[in-house]
Amino acid sequence: MAKTTVNDIVALCKRRGFIFTGSEIYGGLGGAYDYGPYGVELMRNIRNAWWNAMIYSRDDIEGLDAALITNRLLWKYSGHEGNFSDPLVECKKCGARMRQDKMRDPSKCDNCGSTDLTAPRAYQLMMGLSIGAVSDGEINAYLRPETATTTYTNFKNVLDSRPHKLPFGIAQIGKAFRNEISPRGFVFRMREFEQAEMQYFVNPSDDEKYFDMWKETRMAWWVNVLGIPAEKLRFMPHEKLAHYAKAACDIEYEFPDGFDEVEGIHNRQDFDLGSHTKSQREFKINASVMENRDSTTKLAYSDAQTGDSFIPFVIETAMGVNRAMFAVMLNAYTVEDLGDGKTRTVLKLKPWLAPVKAAVIPLARNVPELQTIANNIENDLRKLGIGRIEMENSGNIGKNYRRHDEIGTPVCITVDHQSMEDGTVTMRHRDSMAQERIKIADVPARVREICGM
Ligand code: ATP
Repeated sequence: MAKTTVNDIVALCKRRGFIFTGSEIYGGLGGAYDYGPYGVELMRNIRNAWWNAMIYSRDDIEGLDAALITNRLLWKYSGHEGNFSDPLVECKKCGARMRQDKMRDPSKCDNCGSTDLTAPRAYQLMMGLSIGAVSDGEINAYLRPETATTTYTNFKNVLDSRPHKLPFGIAQIGKAFRNEISPRGFVFRMREFEQAEMQYFVNPSDDEKYFDMWKETRMAWWVNVLGIPAEKLRFMPHEKLAHYAKAACDIEYEFPDGFDEVEGIHNRQDFDLGSHTKSQREFKINASVMENRDSTTKLAYSDAQTGDSFIPFVIETAMGVNRAMFAVMLNAYTVEDLGDGKTRTVLKLKPWLAPVKAAVIPLARNVPELQTIANNIENDLRKLGIGRIEMENSGNIGKNYRRHDEIGTPVCITVDHQSMEDGTVTMRHRDSMAQERIKIADVPARVREICGM
């Protein structure tokens, strides 16, 4: 079968209600997408899988959900106001605006091929806000461009309320906003997107050990939890490091156009806590930081045994949730040849990621007894609390199977006349299309087992 393309996923997303163009009925808005009935479920399941691995399965990481609108000073001292920009180049012939470091050939316009280009200029990526009646349109706040900085500014709040010894982490999932020059690749590069980021605070002498540990831990999660085969993922170390980083490495997924970043793992040393802390001179700060005259709080760690107070190093894991969902869909999308010129499209998702966990299908619409049995099965499955269960009442079994294959539903449970006689139903499995007859009483336990929950 042909290789999956981005257009296959775009079409499936629209047809089956995963992702729509933002502001679509007014012509759309570049870099903004709306998630539909199944998209919200898949996103939620990826978020939950991440939260489960990062928080519920460990003792050393706390959760946080910080505000999206933030005081300007956060971004002054984080360095974003001065440095968070991309090199913008304009074509003097066709007017196209491009990000120089992502151009196919930096000497030629991506759009018309002209070599008549402006020199690159720094283009600020943050979305400024003017908040409050007295602001008079002046930028006095920003929509956050990442979750990490609001984690650093809450370091002391979290540590004071949930004391930990080093190493420990703080994790957040939430929206981030960047005024990207050229949003592209469907949901690959958006202006509003979601990140799942974790900042792990370590003793400076342990940084390399934990950088390696998090690289391996995160890669294993992509393989085992998201179900991406190891050969479609790779580590890509950064050759050119950002001014704050001591080491950095991306996890890349093989998209249809080649490998590209889905998650970053960074050794940020003491740059962030050192930038935002009060009384910087009291500490030996390794990274080069701006003098901070505004912070009200020391963002240091006190070792109870030695009495030392110091600024920990940070190992960050930073995943894009939308990119993860995109990679998961590209990887799961399969067109199977059924012979006789027939094909079927299946989304072979790991069952715990599937937007719908099971569909219940009464074979005839007008037989009340069948409806009652189907309703009871649906209720019993809903009581499991494992996610969305759907009742299909169209009466067209073939169409129902096709729809659920396309959205990745792991099993369909069909209720027919035999169910009334012997209390059994047909369980049809998505990937193998195998059908088995099982007792109605066994359905909830089987579905729970299949969904791995
Ligand atoms: P890029 O080099 O692609 O611009 P980045 O290195 O700036 O990304 P980070 O700041 O490290 O990205 O953000 C962590 C993750 O957030 C990325 O690995 C990516 O999955 C996701 N991400 C970043 N920018 C976007 C965007 N504009 N749209 C969707 N996801 C994004």
